[in-house]
This record gives sequence, structure tokens and C-alpha cells, in this order.
Amino acid sequence: MRELVILGTASQVPTRTRNHNGYFLRWEREGILFDPGEGTQRQMIHAGVSASRITRICLTHVHGDHCFGLPGVLSRMVLDGVAHPVHLHYPASGGGTVRALVSLATPGLDLHLHPHGAAGPVADGIDVEPLRHRIEAYGYRVTEPDGRTFLPARLEGAAVRGPDVGRLAREGRFGDVRLEDVSVHRPGRRFAFVMDTAVCDGAFALAEGADLLVTESTFSDDDARLAEEYLHLTAGQAGSIASSGAAGSLVLTHFSSRYDDVGLLAAGARRTAGPATTVVAASDLDRIAIPGHRAADEGSLRPGERRAAT
Ligand SMILES: [Zn+2]
Repeated sequence: MRELVILGTASQVPTRTRNHNGYFLRWEREGILFDPGEGTQRQMIHAGVSASRITRICLTHVHGDHCFGLPGVLSRMVLDGVAHPVHLHYPASGGGTVRALVSLATPGLDLHLHPHGAAGPVADGIDVEPLRHRIEAYGYRVTEPDGRTFLPARLEGAAVRGPDVGRLAREGRFGDVRLEDVSVHRPGRRFAFVMDTAVCDGAFALAEGADLLVTESTFSDDDARLAEEYLHLTAGQAGSIASSGAAGSLVLTHFSSRYDDVGLLAAGARRTAGPATTVVAASDLDRIAIPGHRAADEGSLRPGERRAAT
């Protein structure tokens, strides 16, 4: 099961319809909470996300709208008797703030702190890229391992059926049949999370090949001067970043309270994102499915051959 639950979409100050930031990514056995702002614990209740599902918390930076929900969520996990380890990732320069917030929480959680200070992997399948904001900030990318997609006609041709298919997948060979003879490479899906930043290389790097890209979109293109001053993205810039990385879906969030209707921001991003990218302006409590696998290496298919559904 892979899906993104939107817990809040407001930057800086919440509004009557938008809570501060908060995003929960279900990624098979992992439950990753990104940037829990104030009110995240209650938004999780509205969204039906149990605190015990959280295995990892990732902070892009330590501005309050991205981390002031931390003590409440951690305390709730202790109250609920969470026994599994929980990993907390954050920029190293925000360590003082993070330790202060953690110290407010009820003790008793098996919490592991993982500060990072450079681009690269921070956990299995998770890596970070630096962003450009008023304090040190990093965006995250979560990548599913690459796999293989079986070609039913070739399996049939090789007379591999039923449980033998699983054995072939595990062992790479079944009798004379090699895995690569009856399957094609399937790139793992990618989720990317780009919060408070001006346009920068790290944002472009994270967007590259993302199946689902979440970006901040604090300002409209008409307010580009404010975006420049406070080091945020406009909707049009978010669309350009998605387009340059050929992202499949773009989810806009982190809206300034000055916009009652964020449809305007979605329209701005659509103008620059290009027809291949689906653009959505997130609302609180939205659930967004992680798109299915994109086409595998079609070059390795024979004429007339089709992939199995994935
Ligand atoms: Zn923010």
C-alpha cells in the first residue's frame, strides 16, 4: 500500500480551512511523517491515521510550521504504547531546536535521531538534497527498489507456472529458464518532497523522474517578488521544476494565507508543468494514491508483446 495523506497545507499561519503543514506517506511497511506543524496530531485523527503507523519522521527544516507538532505526536505515540523504533531525520544545524522539541515529549519512545548535513542517502531507499531557504533545508526522495515485470506469454512459452514463477523470481533461474528471459526491468517508483525553497539545483534533482512530486507553492506568479524575498516558490516555478524532471504528478501545498482560492495557483503551475504532468492543489485530508509503475524498458519487448499489469 502506497499513498500520501495530506494533513495540512498552510504555510506560516493556518486558516479556517487549512491546518499547518503535515504529510503522512504510507510506503508499504514504512509510515513516514513529513514536517508535522501544529495541530498534526488532531489532523491525523480526522484523516484516520494512527500514530502507531509512524516509523519515521522527516523534517525539511526547523521553522515552526514544519516541526511544532513534533512533541504532541511523539507524546501520543508513547501514550499509544508504540514499541517499534522510530527514526527522526533533520538538518544537523537544526539540532538544538529538534532536541528542545523532543525534550518536551513524554519519554519512553525508542527514538533515534539522524541529523544530516549533505546530499546523499539517510536511510535505506531515502535520500536528501539541499534546498535554498533562509535556514538550512533539505528535500527528501523515497525510492522503491527496482524490480522485474513478468511477461505472461514468455512464461507460458517457457512452461513456468504457479509457484514456480515465485521460485524463478527468488532464485533468478528455474531449470533452463533465466529470469531475464521472461521478464523486463521495472524501475522503482519515486516520491519526492520539496518544501521551503527558492528555485535551486536540489529541487530539480529531486523532481527528476518522480512519480509523485510534492512541492511548496507558497505564492502565485503575481507575487513572485515576495517569493524571491522570502526564498519560496511560485506556482509557476513549481510547475517548471516538475516539467524539467518529467514528474508524473505534481501536488502543490504550503499555501500563503493570502489566497482563499488556491485554484489560481494550480492554474499557474499547469501553465508551466506541461501536458505530461498532472497538477493538483492539495486540500487538507486529501488522500493521493502513488501512481502505478510507468512503462518498463519497452525496448526489451518483442513485437506484439505486452507487459503484465503491475
Ligand atoms: Zn514553511
